[in-house]
Amino acid sequence: MSARKTAEIRFAQHAPNAFFAVVGGEIAPGGIPVSRLAERVGRTPFYVYDRQAIGARVASLRAALPRAMHLHYAIKANPMPAVVQHLAGLTDGLDVASAQEMAVALDAGVAPERVSFAGPGKSAAEIRRAVAAGITVTVESALQLEQAVQAGAALGVLPRVAVRVNPAFELKSSGMKMGGGPKPFGIDEARVPEVLDRVRESGVHLSGLHIFGGSQNLRADAIVDAQRKTYELGLSLLRQWGGPVDWLNLGGGLGVPYFPGEAELDLSPIAENLHRLSERAGADLGAPLVIELGRYLVAHAGLYVCRVLDRKESCGQVFLVTDGGLHHHLAASGNFGQVLRKNYPVAVANRIDAPADEVQTVVGPLCTPLDVLAERMPLAHAEPGDLVAVFQSGAYGLTASPTAFLSHPAPAEVLV
Ligand SMILES: *Cc1c(COP(=O)(O)O)cnc(C)c1O
Repeated sequence: MSARKTAEIRFAQHAPNAFFAVVGGEIAPGGIPVSRLAERVGRTPFYVYDRQAIGARVASLRAALPRAMHLHYAIKANPMPAVVQHLAGLTDGLDVASAQEMAVALDAGVAPERVSFAGPGKSAAEIRRAVAAGITVTVESALQLEQAVQAGAALGVLPRVAVRVNPAFELKSSGMKMGGGPKPFGIDEARVPEVLDRVRESGVHLSGLHIFGGSQNLRADAIVDAQRKTYELGLSLLRQWGGPVDWLNLGGGLGVPYFPGEAELDLSPIAENLHRLSERAGADLGAPLVIELGRYLVAHAGLYVCRVLDRKESCGQVFLVTDGGLHHHLAASGNFGQVLRKNYPVAVANRIDAPADEVQTVVGPLCTPLDVLAERMPLAHAEPGDLVAVFQSGAYGLTASPTAFLSHPAPAEVLV
């Protein structure tokens, strides 16, 4: 299969995207001009994810990472079954965060030993399903460990567990902190040895340790620093444990540029550090390191496409009113964990070659001032019927949005 030619799409204020084709002046996910794709889908709005763009990202990451290192996909970033199936073939494992995500991972044909299940609030029933499936239960409390042990006894199955550690340090400059200080995630590092004692006593299989400090970090130095500390912490805990493990999971945290002024992460210092740590892990632990990534593998490969319904002016400002909005794409509206609203990269998708020389505001159909997809952004002149695309939308889009809010139809989703 030959790779399709892609073009670099530039924005006035955002990092460029070079993962999509352009055909006849339109952005062309999967090589299909977006207006034609809208006809194929049959309606707007829709999310479209580009297979080749996902594959290209994984390939460049693999080329940079040590060979021995395992790459996992955290499927909560984009759990569309076709996307999970595609990534299952490109990665070494899948991380799930609910029993439903577990079902999607297993349906994708992934061997249970390559699936692990994290989450601070797993029910006893979910843990039992995970033990029955033979996947690794990442225990985040002493109770979760007991529930896995009990499920194993009831089912006559040897449970596989990993222990999630809440490190005392945190990932600096991280968009979302998930370790360091009081956290609902994992077990404080000081209490991990007693939990490991209980693992030994109960005889369950220890797959490894999972230490995830945070996500959406665009500073390579902060990621390198966190990965070093994470390795040292994991090594010290595993030396106390003494027995073999299948892996040590260093978490992820690799961010993607969403907002004006942000740039793609510089992978080279991260990769260089991981080469050193990976070699050490081989010698110190006889086990591979794992990194688990969500958005870094898929965000760039997705567009949210909606249609302009109306164009109006109010007090000198141009509004493009579209059929898409925060009910489908909460993050682009600025309401998913952002302190100050900033624009995602947005373009008029069927006029991708036209100059972005008119300041326009893109809003959705909801009766709330929060329903904004782009605020006063330079875009190509657009009219009713045109298609607007929100870039960087392959992660935390549809499934991170309140689709029932105002009872408009849900968007379609396609992988091309
Ligand atoms: C959400 C999550 C991830 C993925 O985070 P991204 O920022 O999408 O890479 C990885 N691991 C765990 C434990 C998570 O909860």
